Amino acid sequence: MSVLSDLARALTDRKIRVVDLTAPLSHETPILELPPEFGQTQRFTFEEISRYDDRGPGWYWNNFRTGEHTGTHFDAPNHWVTGKDQGDISGVPAEVFLRPAVVIDVTEQVAADPNFVIEREHLDQWQQEHGPLPDGGWLLCRTGWSARTTQQEMINNTDTGPTSPGMSAECAQWVAEQTGVIGIGVETVGTDAGAAHSFDPAFPCHAFFLGAGKYGLAQLQNLDQLPATGALIIATPLKIVDGSGSPCRVLALVED
Ligand code: MN
Repeated sequence: MSVLSDLARALTDRKIRVVDLTAPLSHETPILELPPEFGQTQRFTFEEISRYDDRGPGWYWNNFRTGEHTGTHFDAPNHWVTGKDQGDISGVPAEVFLRPAVVIDVTEQVAADPNFVIEREHLDQWQQEHGPLPDGGWLLCRTGWSARTTQQEMINNTDTGPTSPGMSAECAQWVAEQTGVIGIGVETVGTDAGAAHSFDPAFPCHAFFLGAGKYGLAQLQNLDQLPATGALIIATPLKIVDGSGSPCRVLALVED
């Protein structure tokens, strides 16, 4: 038996569970909101070409328009100015699309404080319990935020602006620069906290991870179905030439 045939058998025998971590992609999918002086990303929008009618009697199909960073998506290094020379989405090596992941669960803290940020001490504690962060693997941050499916719930604007969880600047710098983690995955619309415009530096997960030639996964769902360690992530962005990111289907393989 080979490793691959063992894997195929485990999948058909359902000894390996396939968990879909992808949010539905539609006009309703929440998107990032920036202050009005900046360019804005766009909602996913269909333009129908034909639907079994005069425009095409036997077939249904659409054009669509969307921001690269809409819904469940993959951030390439060139998305951020710190990573502008580190490569576009079409250049991400294919082996990056199949990587292990660990999950840190801060659902309780976020329920008590929507501005909660993961600090180095939380990761130190996680590592004491579960071992080192994975070389070449994803760090997925389970916050429970994906239960918020509308624009207002997801962005959660308050008097201080968008209010959603993330990671502190110090912690982001440490993970990006001092560990072998290949990227950060989150349930929110982007990898940074809602208030990260006011962090130093601003948007530190983007600045440090992408600056280090690493990656981001945003708007993940179903992280509650993953173990703290041992999941294998399949994340496949479109090969958009010169793109800064792409909506993607993200799956996890979990051995029960
Ligand atoms: Mn993004």
